[in-house]
Amino acid sequence: MSDLLRLEGVSKRFGEFVAVHDVTLFIPAGRLTAIIGPNGAGKTTVINLATGALAPDAGAIRFKGDPVTHLSIHDRVRRGLSRSFQIMNIFPRLTVLQNVLLPVLCRRGRTGVALTPVEGEREAVAEVERILGEIGLLDQRDAPAGALSHGDQRLLELGIAIAPGPELCFLDEPSAGLTPVERATVLELIRKLFAERHTTFVIVEHDMDVVFSLSDWIVVMNRGRVLAEGPPAEIRENREVREVYLGEELTA
Ligand code: ADP
Ligand code: MG
Repeated sequence: MSDLLRLEGVSKRFGEFVAVHDVTLFIPAGRLTAIIGPNGAGKTTVINLATGALAPDAGAIRFKGDPVTHLSIHDRVRRGLSRSFQIMNIFPRLTVLQNVLLPVLCRRGRTGVALTPVEGEREAVAEVERILGEIGLLDQRDAPAGALSHGDQRLLELGIAIAPGPELCFLDEPSAGLTPVERATVLELIRKLFAERHTTFVIVEHDMDVVFSLSDWIVVMNRGRVLAEGPPAEIRENREVREVYLGEELTA
């Protein structure tokens, strides 16, 4: 498997506090990776470093072989690296369609905010409708995003994250705060997008059922470090992982 993303010895400090310490991580194309670990382990910070929201204090990041350590978020998105956020990141007063149109227009080189689709943007709108179909929100295209159920808002976030057509997409707790039914829908969608779009996903997730049913590879973080990584069956049996973090959930 070829590496899509490579973090090499990456560290990030906030004042005296070391949030991410010497993390080395390879994300190959076509493998669904889950990053797990207790709150504060550094998972979101790793996503922020990988996607360009934060600059590392040490280490290097490569995407498809090219150094991207100091590239902006936009430059990384343009190269095929995107994300969704742990905290809801939609525009509640814009319609569902407009929320997805923004990243699509951005990718098509349109800057500025053009929310009234004009003639030339028919193609972009058609593309957005295709995405809305994929995420199951086409019938709500004209609803304000803020009026959607929590579960549908999470689906919309997924739509926004895949709208730039990423090769690699980080999902930060995509099922957080959802009911079991909504969670199953989001899970199914991630599986479908992975299979049909060939987007490589890296998910940060607390729900162990989700993690073990979805991922091919699990990275366990603790106190800013990678404690262990491997296929789910191996992680499930890893004594250190059980001791430090997962004991009960894994025996269940
Ligand atoms: P996780 O996503 O694994 O729960 P985070 O990466 O969000 O953990 O945070 C790791 C640690 O870094 C936490 O202790 C958090 O409080 C701290 N941290 C994260 N972002 C900042 C920041 N911008 N400023 C100061 N501390 C931060
Ligand atoms: Mg987090």
